[in-house]
Amino acid sequence: MIQVAINGYGTIGKRVADAVRQQPDMEVLGVAKTRPNFEAETAIDKGFPLYAAIEERADQFAEADLEIAGPVEDLIDAADIVVDATPSGIGAENKELYEEYDTPALYQGGEDADLVDTSFNARSNFEDAVDADHVRVVSCNTTGLSRVIAPLREAYGVEKVRATLVRRGGDPGQTNRGPINDILPNPVTIPSHHGPDVETIFDDLDIDTLGMKVPATLMHMHSLNVTLEEEVDAADVRELFADESRLFLIPERMDIDGSGKLKEYAMDAGRPRGDIWENCIWEESISTVGSDLYLFQGIHQESDVVPENVDAIRAVLGEADAEESIATTNESIGIGL
Ligand code: NAD
Repeated sequence: MIQVAINGYGTIGKRVADAVRQQPDMEVLGVAKTRPNFEAETAIDKGFPLYAAIEERADQFAEADLEIAGPVEDLIDAADIVVDATPSGIGAENKELYEEYDTPALYQGGEDADLVDTSFNARSNFEDAVDADHVRVVSCNTTGLSRVIAPLREAYGVEKVRATLVRRGGDPGQTNRGPINDILPNPVTIPSHHGPDVETIFDDLDIDTLGMKVPATLMHMHSLNVTLEEEVDAADVRELFADESRLFLIPERMDIDGSGKLKEYAMDAGRPRGDIWENCIWEESISTVGSDLYLFQGIHQESDVVPENVDAIRAVLGEADAEESIATTNESIGIGL
């Protein structure tokens, strides 16, 4: 059994912990937290050994009657791999700790690409992470774009990608984010940083991205234009995507007109936390004009990177190839709407 440590038990970390626990070949050795907040409470309730990420704050857990298994160093030392899911920039500060204990580490999309040996998306470049020590699972948006670009490149060749990312202002729990009543070009400079991030996954990809932020918390929305190297029928692209396990094609009959109904569907389907691990592509939006492909897709920012973290664990430890790992992850967490 692969012993997995999770350092940073917030939006991403708690979801990765649950997904790891569902894998037949992995165990959560423990999770590390800085504060005895509500997430610390649920970690204990779920039976995850809780470690103090910052030693000086360990007393706060005792005062809150939350039992601590030890300092984060003990957890990192004993683990086969650590998933760092701390806020942007903290992962970089933690790298030294992981190196000290010779524990391979996964970082999240908020860290810089040059912190690691490789950036990672299971569908696109699984092999690059095999035996690497430091791997970055790319952001929610980059994950969503990579999952679409990889099959298109293989099937038709991609000349150019242009994407406009309509980004949620904050996650539902991020009460300090916004805008509340505005539409921001964000970042206002063009192209946005998202395109170069996707280029960390693919060699020789030509991609320009633009970003906006809107007063929404549920999901991001991508408006995508891909110029392919040949003329393609929209029906063929639909078929290509239908074979991709992490792309959900929303059928017209479902009457899902936006993120609200998508989240409602996920909750009705009994998804934990209403999570949607798949890209949600409106089937009717898949259109072609000559060699230009267009589509709209919804990306659930809090959860699409979760299966990617699970696959990155197997890649780094050389425990499975891409196909095998993706199939195991999909089956154990229930991917496929
Ligand atoms: P979060 O704030 O929800 O969770 C981070 C957790 O780490 C919190 O529980 C915090 O208390 C804890 N923490 C802070 N400092 C720590 C330390 N020194 N040691 C251990 N734990 C510490 O953040 P998040 O949204 O889960 O984001 C984590 C990473 O994932 C970031 O790199 C982010 O860019 C990336 N990411 C976030 C999303 C998203 O939509 N939330 C999507 C994809 C990727």
